Amino acid sequence: MNNPISRKQFLQICGTVATGTAIVSVSGFSVRRMMRDEADHFWQIDPSKCTFCGRCETDCVLSVSAVKCIHANKVCGYCDLCGGYYRANVKDLNTAAENLMCPTGAIVRKYIEDPYFEYTIDENLCNGCGKCAKGCNSFGNGSLYLQVKQELCKNCNECKISKVCPAGAIQRVPANKAYMLKDA
Ligand code: SF4
Ligand code: SF4
Ligand code: SF4
Repeated sequence: MNNPISRKQFLQICGTVATGTAIVSVSGFSVRRMMRDEADHFWQIDPSKCTFCGRCETDCVLSVSAVKCIHANKVCGYCDLCGGYYRANVKDLNTAAENLMCPTGAIVRKYIEDPYFEYTIDENLCNGCGKCAKGCNSFGNGSLYLQVKQELCKNCNECKISKVCPAGAIQRVPANKAYMLKDA
């Protein structure tokens, strides 16, 4: 036989269920909102703040960083003696590996006309170390810079690099402004 319950007990049970439903509903709303916010936002580097410290290469959760070198062609001086391509103080200006800034051979140099050369980045080889960008910003026009590539980035809830970035350069931006480009 079922035990009868008092009106007071009945109201207590209803209250508990109603509160539980409200919590589930509120937390469901919060989770949906968080997921929507995450989908609407992406991590980006503010090019005006980045100091090319090297942490973008080492601190991304991916084995090869989602941060890549970007080349702003409109800014580039097409220099023969490119500060992003050659190491500083090279003795012989030739393309031997020991003279080049990029440790992975990701920068491709192409002759245009005397004395201009075009530089492009092979994204598959780039590890986001920023060495080239540091050289370009020190000795050139600053057309090389670093950016988080959306197609590669896991859009972590909290970007691991943002926690260690000494310049506070990594920030969440709305999807419709996703790429913070230098020449935009
Ligand atoms: S961690 Fe910050 S300062 Fe260092 S390379 Fe990345 S964005 Fe630039
Ligand atoms: S020097 Fe570093 S950031 Fe620049 S292209 Fe090479 S791997 Fe990429
Ligand atoms: S959000 Fe994650 S995957 Fe994207 S750059 Fe930051 S650490 Fe790397």
